[in-house]
Amino acid sequence: MVKIMSNEITNILLIEDEKDIARFIELELTCEGYKVHVAYDGMQGLMSARQINPDLIILDRMLPQMNGIEVCKRLRQSTDVPILMLTAKGDITDKVEGLDAGANDYLVKPFNLDELLARVRVQLRSKKPFEKTIMEFMDLHLDTTTREIKRGDKKINLSPKEYDLLMLFMKHPKHVLNRERILENIWGWDFEGEDNVLEVYMHSLREKIEVDGKPRILQTIRGVGYVLKEPT
Ligand code: CA
Repeated sequence: MVKIMSNEITNILLIEDEKDIARFIELELTCEGYKVHVAYDGMQGLMSARQINPDLIILDRMLPQMNGIEVCKRLRQSTDVPILMLTAKGDITDKVEGLDAGANDYLVKPFNLDELLARVRVQLRSKKPFEKTIMEFMDLHLDTTTREIKRGDKKINLSPKEYDLLMLFMKHPKHVLNRERILENIWGWDFEGEDNVLEVYMHSLREKIEVDGKPRILQTIRGVGYVLKEPT
């Protein structure tokens, strides 16, 4: 029996003084499966950021105590966490100021919810995912610097998409990844291609990493998705 593990928790810190907007964003992000922490002013936001060490910060520009630009600058002294800035103002100097302060992206209120969610995903994806360059699972090795892959001492050549796919599993060993999550990660959030594209790629990826009759480590979880785990 395979235990289905949930994806690891992604923490998002929302720093927004307008309670209605904060509540709305918090609810939507929570529905998407993120763990959301809310701070209602700049100082509190800065403190929360240090305590929580979030994966992403959504930062309003106009805040009491300390404005968003100042919060952003201070955060940048100690962390490279992705920062998505929100503002009611849309003029270009305002955007430049936010980006100069170290924000990764900028969204003008009122914003479209789907756009916010998409930008959150983009920032989480582009976040430097790991420090080490060699990833290992059993006898499978992946070097993220050279993109070299080996099963045992056999070198394996993958297409770019196969590589991305394998990397996703290597980053989440023993976690069942559902189809939607894989498609979104590898083919993008607005992917509208053939239904079986994932199956096709999984098939070719398996053929390659099961070199010399090595046992299957990319397992299918019927009706859910796939998992990288020891053969049963
Ligand atoms: Ca505000």
